[in-house]
Amino acid sequence: MSDIKVRFAPSPTGYMHIGNTRTAIFNWLLAKKLGGKFMLRIDDTDKERSRKEYEDAIRESLTWLGLKWDEEARQSARVTRYQEVTARLLAAGRIYPCYETAEELDIMRKKLMTKGLPPIYDRSALKLTAEQIALYEKEGRKPHYRFKLIDGDIVWNDLIRGECRYDAAKLGDPVIIRADGSYLYHLPSVIDDFDFGITHIIRGEDHVTNTAAQIQMFEAIGGKTPVFGHLPLLTGAEGKLSKRLGSVGVLDLREQGIEAMAICSYLTKLGTSDAIEPFYDLQSLADTLDFNKLGRSQPKFSEADLAHFNTHLVRNMPYSFVADRIDSDETFWNAVRGNLTIVSDYKQWKNICRCAVTPIIEDAAFLSVAAELLPAEPWNEDTFSSWINEIKNRTNRKGKDLFHPLRKAITAMDDGPELKILLPLIGYSRVHSRLNGIAA
Ligand code: GLU
Repeated sequence: MSDIKVRFAPSPTGYMHIGNTRTAIFNWLLAKKLGGKFMLRIDDTDKERSRKEYEDAIRESLTWLGLKWDEEARQSARVTRYQEVTARLLAAGRIYPCYETAEELDIMRKKLMTKGLPPIYDRSALKLTAEQIALYEKEGRKPHYRFKLIDGDIVWNDLIRGECRYDAAKLGDPVIIRADGSYLYHLPSVIDDFDFGITHIIRGEDHVTNTAAQIQMFEAIGGKTPVFGHLPLLTGAEGKLSKRLGSVGVLDLREQGIEAMAICSYLTKLGTSDAIEPFYDLQSLADTLDFNKLGRSQPKFSEADLAHFNTHLVRNMPYSFVADRIDSDETFWNAVRGNLTIVSDYKQWKNICRCAVTPIIEDAAFLSVAAELLPAEPWNEDTFSSWINEIKNRTNRKGKDLFHPLRKAITAMDDGPELKILLPLIGYSRVHSRLNGIAA
């Protein structure tokens, strides 16, 4: 195994949705392709919003999608380590305390903006004297902490966006610890990525500016900066970044009969120069992974398209893929899959083949002739055509007039798999009774 390691780092503050699922998939596929490891990191530093229920759902979603993880970590269990690094960076002057209240910061931002300047923190906390600090402390103010960026360009070669360049002076020193002592996402993420040896970070392009600041954090703690790749964000069908996307839950999609491999295939190929086509296992999908094929524009995600694609995937699905989920054999699956919308629809056809069906009789006289001509078993693949020829000769019917009444009597449905395939699956006794108008 190579030393490649990626991670998926969800905050358990909501269910797994299409957006973070896509991030998880790309990371997992990259690990698979490069023979590396995939780590699950639970970013639960926000105590208020993190919930066990969400974490459980994230695990369930990943497991269902087939995205197994080799290792896991939880940020809430690592706070001592974060404090240790913080103390070191404080001593080195890369982290500094600030005493402004939220209101004061807001006023500072507004002032800058009315002057047409970017609302960047002016580092006034660095100019505080020991007396001023003592005064604030006496007032009961608790400091929040910022990470001090070093002026200059921050440059990296992004797997997806190519060369990225940010002027540190324009970023503003990020707050990393709140006044209540809790950590914001930035620094713990870097410490974890460093400690766990993360080599590649694939995440949404909403993190691009975080990356610029985090690169300096990696350097400050003496760690090697991982390779970054920022995925263009998905947009909703209406073309804008859609709130709705955040609520398309993976487990809801499962409930609707969307296949895990439909989600994985669809999300991997969406926005790439490859066609969106069904893959039935993750390894084959991983083999095709190529970040160069990913465009820079934001691809549109549509639930309706996914459902449509899912049907396409189901209709071509090899039996081996469903064998452990359906209680029917390969002959049956191959006969019906082309008529399914979702896998569980197979039950309807199973009932038609194996359970009593009340036939729909459109022309009793014609159907009883057909019943009379029905050959005795054993039946083979030619049975149907020789039977149909006999009916044709006797009744002079053809086309729809010939087939439709037979189909309605035999299956009580308007359409479905070819009758020649269904007939042997239903068997003489039921077919004969149904043609005679008897539920069987
Ligand atoms: N917990 C962060 C998020 O969900 C992780 C971001 C990252 O991948 O670094 O946005």
